[in-house]
Amino acid sequence: MFDPLKEAKKIKEQIIEWRRDFHMHPELGFEEERTSRIVEEHLREWGYRIKRVGTGIIADIGGGERTIALRADMDALPIQEENDVPYKSKIPGKMHACGHDAHTAMLLGAAKIIAEHSDELKNRVRLIFQPAEEGGNGALKMIEGGALEGVNAIFGLHVWAELDSGIVGIREGPFLAGVGRFLAKIIGKGGHGAAPQYTIDPIPAAADAILALQRIVAREVDPLESAVVTVGRVQGGTAFNVIPEFVELEGTFRFFTNELGEFLKSRIVEIIENTAKAHRCRAEVEADILGPPTINDREMTKFARSVAEDIGLNVGEVRKTLGGEDFAFYLQKVPGAFIALGIRNEEKGIVYPHHHPKFDVDEDVLYLGTALEVALAFRF
Ligand SMILES: [Zn+2]
Ligand SMILES: [Zn+2]
Repeated sequence: MFDPLKEAKKIKEQIIEWRRDFHMHPELGFEEERTSRIVEEHLREWGYRIKRVGTGIIADIGGGERTIALRADMDALPIQEENDVPYKSKIPGKMHACGHDAHTAMLLGAAKIIAEHSDELKNRVRLIFQPAEEGGNGALKMIEGGALEGVNAIFGLHVWAELDSGIVGIREGPFLAGVGRFLAKIIGKGGHGAAPQYTIDPIPAAADAILALQRIVAREVDPLESAVVTVGRVQGGTAFNVIPEFVELEGTFRFFTNELGEFLKSRIVEIIENTAKAHRCRAEVEADILGPPTINDREMTKFARSVAEDIGLNVGEVRKTLGGEDFAFYLQKVPGAFIALGIRNEEKGIVYPHHHPKFDVDEDVLYLGTALEVALAFRF
């Protein structure tokens, strides 16, 4: 068999060129028209069978009894880029600040190499270019569109700002967290700031609720488990001398098991409702689980690790994170693994975290991700 690393290195510059092009033209979730058009044009040229799911693409090549799927996400974020680089975002207020431009470019590179060697394929390979990973659950749309039909295993890569450049981080079991969201309106009775006795003040009720929420993780969750409850938005009032009618709270909760997710959800609702009641207020609370935790399958993790080591990649540890990833939806249906590729490079000043206006990736290692995707496809 050919050497995936060597093949990927040959098109290293091409991968960087694609990545820069996508980086300069970021598109938000479900708006990936340009990106997906470019991806589709290449895939057609290389002989893939294409199915469109909105701005998403399902592309097959080869035959055989088993199918391995490789996934990249294509969407950007509503962030104003602050990097001063030749490939800076040309779209005001939009930026590839999570590295999905790199994911698309790496998988496009893999697509090219896989097509060139398609006569050596033992299985069918399916490429999934999905929209709207950032809060849009684009993965669900792709699954509804048939992305997992006939698929036996799935792998996805994410560039990883916590890992040094070139390290492939593979982790068995829970990797990213399940994600929940809550929105609460604590309703009292407004009035004059100097006459609280004639009002029902929702501000102290909201303040107490915020503090009480902190005790879920501190006092109710097993200290050996991981969980987060964050209030990210508090809004109430319009003037210094007016007691407002209501206060709004919005936040997120994170967890690694579905049971804990359900527990956090119900406790958040109970605590806000009852704290409001204690202050003579009323609360309307909505809490939802937006996505499950990302759990890497044991066998598939082992397989990915052995393939990565086999082709000479530097495989290392990667920490769990309470960030979320909609790749979790694929892993609920099909065994697979979500893999991190280190892109942190202090010498180049590439040290900013994901979703930061100065986030960037060390482009010199992107071909390693391509090589791993190619190797997974052929060794499955
Ligand atoms: Zn992100
Ligand atoms: Zn991401």
